[in-house]
Amino acid sequence: MHLTVSLSLPSGSISHERQRNHHHFLEKILTPLDTMMMKSTDESETKWKIDDAAELARDFWVERDGISALKLTEKTISDHGNHEKCSSHHELQGDIFYAQAKKTDDTDLKCLYLFASVDAYSMATLLSPNALTLRSFRGYARSLIKLGDQLRINKFYEKAVSKAKLGMSITSPQGKSTEGGYFTKIKTELQNWIDLATTKMQATVAVSDIGTMDNQKEPGEEDTSFDRLKKIWVKLDDKTKINFLVVDFEKLIGYIQDKHGTEVKEHFQKCIPIANNLRWRCWKCHICSQVNYCFTDCKMHILDNHVHNSEPDFSARPKCVDEILADMICCGDWKPVDTAEAENLIKDRAKRGEEFVYVNGWCSDWPEAKDRERENVLKQFAEVLKSSCAKENCTLSCTLWDWLRDYTEENLELPGVPGIYLDQCCFFKNPQCICFLDLKHLEHILKYFRQLTTDVRASLVPKVVNQFWENSQVKERIDLEGVATYNLLLDKRLLYEEELESDKIGTVEHYKSTGIFEDVMPKGDKIVSWILDCPEIDREFVSQMANGVHNSKLWLAALRIVRCVIRKKESYYDKRRKMLTYEKMLGEAETICDREDTRKNVNQRSTYESALRMKCEDLVGKQDDDTKCFLSVVRDVFERQSSPSFEVFEDKKCISELSSTVPNDDVKKSLLTLRKSLKEKFPLIDSKILQNKSTYEKLIDVFPKLSAVEYRLVVLPFVKKFLQDKLKKMMKTNSSSVAAGDSAERKPKKRHL
Ligand SMILES: [Zn+2]
Ligand SMILES: [Zn+2]
Repeated sequence: MHLTVSLSLPSGSISHERQRNHHHFLEKILTPLDTMMMKSTDESETKWKIDDAAELARDFWVERDGISALKLTEKTISDHGNHEKCSSHHELQGDIFYAQAKKTDDTDLKCLYLFASVDAYSMATLLSPNALTLRSFRGYARSLIKLGDQLRINKFYEKAVSKAKLGMSITSPQGKSTEGGYFTKIKTELQNWIDLATTKMQATVAVSDIGTMDNQKEPGEEDTSFDRLKKIWVKLDDKTKINFLVVDFEKLIGYIQDKHGTEVKEHFQKCIPIANNLRWRCWKCHICSQVNYCFTDCKMHILDNHVHNSEPDFSARPKCVDEILADMICCGDWKPVDTAEAENLIKDRAKRGEEFVYVNGWCSDWPEAKDRERENVLKQFAEVLKSSCAKENCTLSCTLWDWLRDYTEENLELPGVPGIYLDQCCFFKNPQCICFLDLKHLEHILKYFRQLTTDVRASLVPKVVNQFWENSQVKERIDLEGVATYNLLLDKRLLYEEELESDKIGTVEHYKSTGIFEDVMPKGDKIVSWILDCPEIDREFVSQMANGVHNSKLWLAALRIVRCVIRKKESYYDKRRKMLTYEKMLGEAETICDREDTRKNVNQRSTYESALRMKCEDLVGKQDDDTKCFLSVVRDVFERQSSPSFEVFEDKKCISELSSTVPNDDVKKSLLTLRKSLKEKFPLIDSKILQNKSTYEKLIDVFPKLSAVEYRLVVLPFVKKFLQDKLKKMMKTNSSSVAAGDSAERKPKKRHL
């Protein structure tokens, strides 16, 4: 077996070029004689740098600092692009994302990390498909199997087997016996993965109920102190109530220091936007740490600087069907038509000169077939078709629709019906014609369309991101008092009964507490529930927020997926370009053959074969893509290939060595076969491109939301705990003054402390 690497990699890394201008110490040492060596010296310097960074990153990882490891690898990869040596960085990212996937209980999050690790391993194996990346092949197969387990999709097991086999085909490095042992070990593991994936593919996966971790608090458990706190609250005078809105910063800090220690206190302080113009809420880029206060700005920053997506010329993009047709497809009933009866009906109407009237693609006159099987397959097909016609992102390409129409026209059996009559009714222009197909043909189109299944990631990533986004919403405003004291001024609406909307901006104003709360008239006891509704303090979260690394892993994993979708797009377009060139060159070959047919002097005609050979000889020395492709076409024709091969054909001599003689008939037949095969490939690639574009848009639409940073999520739990403490102290003094006798029973349960 041999390795084919089909993915096209973006050309030349700019930053690598830039690096060449900084030769550090080398400049002084090199003599003019050495300049010829410079390129290779520089290259080895780069290699050394990349390896060094990889080692350092792995050290971070070993010391459980996954975020630093990810950041270093990310930087190295963006500096050196697709340098072969970067494969170790991709591999490390694969390991980190895989470990993260293992750690999480949330199924969606787990899958997201697995997808990121799959892409990382995939890049590692593409950049350097040799003995060094054998580990990546193992990781690749392993992550794919886990994805198959999570999503219960066989495709992932299939891919796991193919990747593991690719790894198995790598030959071990010569010599070293210790390396050999390591090699054998990994190969055994690869074989195990192959066996496992094969078994899983065959087994019907039992649906096991793995409920997602429910973070909701247990209800039921009624807290008796809760009611008492409310009673106490009601008795308080307005001024005391209003005073709850002013959180004394000094006291709060003291409280945190007491309960959680210096480290947590320092982290907490870092999360307070003390300087003017800062906000509670911002958007942070997790690669270059740029902070924006507007979602759109942040999105633009990420797209411009870290995503690098470029759309090809409009003319090179496949078109999707228009809205009118999409609408026809979606509104249809899709019931099979009884063709025998329909035939009689057509003949009858044709005789009388009547036509079938279609309204929005459908005509109700056609007799329905009572055929359960046909109905069922047609229903499934209609669902696939409808799902590709969604209003905002239509992914049904014109070429695919044309293919479907041609296919229907070719395979529809209505003997004795004049074609002209059908054309008059626009029979084949309306989607209902598909309902005339028999079972065999319906099954064929269903299978064909199923190849274009939707990308799981297109729904998975938005689901994870939106969950994160929802969790980052905060309703309460918090302002600050003064310039020196920084008392926190809570939202006065907390003293009322009204429902609060999310505060998406998180501005911080500086007020005097006496000024803004002057006219507040407290109503109800909602604030007591608010104070008690409080998550436990999560020290790790607080520290990550203070250090600006909260969410970094998820952010980088999602970015990997976005970039993976873009690389896929580039490879699709690359393929499409090759197909277009092939189509053009196929036309050229046909023209050459036709020219022989049209020569007036029959004696001057040469065989197609020799005419094509002559053209090839004329092209000797030319290196452009068209020429190379023309040679591929000729070779495919001579070899009687059933489908085009898009590999570049470098060695022209091969043509002359190919096959002894190819009769004219065979050349003609071969040209026809190739054209037909090529024609079938366009709808597929066009649909994949449209599908990919839709996935990309869905991802990019939500991905930047992961940049959201909400400091109130750090601050509020501490404030609530602090206020609980304050309220409970009030209750203690209150109850001890009321009745000293049963104070033991009335002692509040320490629920939240
Ligand atoms: Zn250099
Ligand atoms: Zn950035």
